[in-house]
Amino acid sequence: MGIIDCDNASISCTLNLNEDASEGTSNGVFCIFVLGGPGSGKGTQCPKIVEHFGFTHLCAGDLLQAEVESGSENGKMIEQFKKEGKIVSSEVTVKLLQNAMQKSTTKKFVIDGFPRNEENRAAFENIVKIQPDFVLFFDCSQEELIRRLLNRNQGRVDDNIETISKRLRVYFDSTLPVIDYYSSRGKVHKIDAQRPVEEVFDDVKRVIYKHYSQKQGIKTFTLI
Ligand code: ADP
Repeated sequence: MGIIDCDNASISCTLNLNEDASEGTSNGVFCIFVLGGPGSGKGTQCPKIVEHFGFTHLCAGDLLQAEVESGSENGKMIEQFKKEGKIVSSEVTVKLLQNAMQKSTTKKFVIDGFPRNEENRAAFENIVKIQPDFVLFFDCSQEELIRRLLNRNQGRVDDNIETISKRLRVYFDSTLPVIDYYSSRGKVHKIDAQRPVEEVFDDVKRVIYKHYSQKQGIKTFTLI
């Protein structure tokens, strides 16, 4: 537990985002994009954010899979695309995200591994018409990413050295430009993701509290 002084404290309070957090935010939505290389810890940290802050966790891959399993016309189309090795358009993915956001009981979202590329980013901005409050960027060396993914290899068919190198290439070629884009707009919080899980999460909590309190106009808060 610790106190963080946002800018010369004048009000002090304990902030628990599990309580209704929508009040006071610009359009009631608080949105975090979580980006980083494959194996950087997105899937490890997002559930902790959900548990600690009561955010809704959205993962584009899971939404696409759920749509396929629902047997809807849209799901059949997605399945067909996958079978043919085609990439589902950003518009389809973004509409699934938008739908999940509209259905969510909370308006605090942690969006995991999205946008993957500039086209995803542009589609999200055009369709959902909101900007992320900030981006959490899990920074991790390539050697550590490879080591973790090879270790993870628990039934994930994509965790072998060939697919790992492909995914790393996609990450460096397509996702890093998205991080650069948000970085140039002052929206990126780079977190050293090479440290133990709890240390990474301590930084994550600090960043979320800081942004949330700023948006709410709270000057100091107690980390819980
Ligand atoms: P991503 O979702 O970014 O691909 P994961 O959260 O699935 O990454 O993590 C990849 C692997 O690395 C998992 O086996 C996970 O347990 C492990 N891992 C995650 N964070 C850390 C960490 N800070 N230190 C060591 N191993 C980690």
